[in-house]
Amino acid sequence: MPFDPPADAEARRAVAPVICYPPDTLPAPDLARYATARRKARNTDEILVPPREAACFEVPGGHFFRISSVEGPQVGDLNLWNAANIDERFYSGKTRALHGTHVSTGQRLWSSFPYLRPMATIVADTLDWYGKDSFGGSVHDVIGTRCDPYTGNLLAGGQYHHCCHSNLVRALADHMGLTLDEAEPHVHDVLNVFMCTGFTRDTGQYFMKASPVRPGDYLEFFAEIDLLGGLSACPGGDCSAEHSSDVAVCHPLLVEVFEPLEGDLAGWNSPGINGYDKSHGR
Ligand SMILES: [Zn+2]
Repeated sequence: MPFDPPADAEARRAVAPVICYPPDTLPAPDLARYATARRKARNTDEILVPPREAACFEVPGGHFFRISSVEGPQVGDLNLWNAANIDERFYSGKTRALHGTHVSTGQRLWSSFPYLRPMATIVADTLDWYGKDSFGGSVHDVIGTRCDPYTGNLLAGGQYHHCCHSNLVRALADHMGLTLDEAEPHVHDVLNVFMCTGFTRDTGQYFMKASPVRPGDYLEFFAEIDLLGGLSACPGGDCSAEHSSDVAVCHPLLVEVFEPLEGDLAGWNSPGINGYDKSHGR
């Protein structure tokens, strides 16, 4: 049985919220400079991620990469590492705390402690028109973790091997020449590219619904540091019904890398690691 509310319950509920991390003092990306550099950038690499599989790709700092929907609606689970030190990786939770539950143009993907710096900046999002729907849903979330075989086993039993988690483990192992056991701890919470998600208003539960993505849509990033990316074409397809199975219709995802012309980024510097001295008061 719930406890009785105190006499001033309504007054306590009526206290206005305060934004935890106002983004005003974050180092702002120079989007105009990026747009100039992107204009004459040339395509240097292309990776097609097969359905229910993942692939790794490398993007030098100062280059761009684009994730596109091809053939049909498909959601992608993205991992990012510092290409020179995979201990530094995308920090979904802090990115959420800084920017909100879903990300779009002008927002950045931040790296783990003790590095905490921008790894990539979103420079274009053809789904930015979607905004927030009447269910509270939006696109490109940093609230989901990634579909994985452990949760699948917990909820339904069975051994399913093509969840995004396992796809990313295999892709990273192959790319780095690691065993699966060595690779697995490096796979982390993702950016859910093209996925439409939110929390239900009544119970606060994580929900998904059919992604509004269509072939030709894309999400494009500027790499702030040398990146190793891992992208899984989720077994949930457009995530309209279920994942962790071979039931959903799935499609590939395309990753393209673009190199700006020499000089078009003049004055840009890759961000350094975080300035905290790590003495923790001792
Ligand atoms: Zn997935």
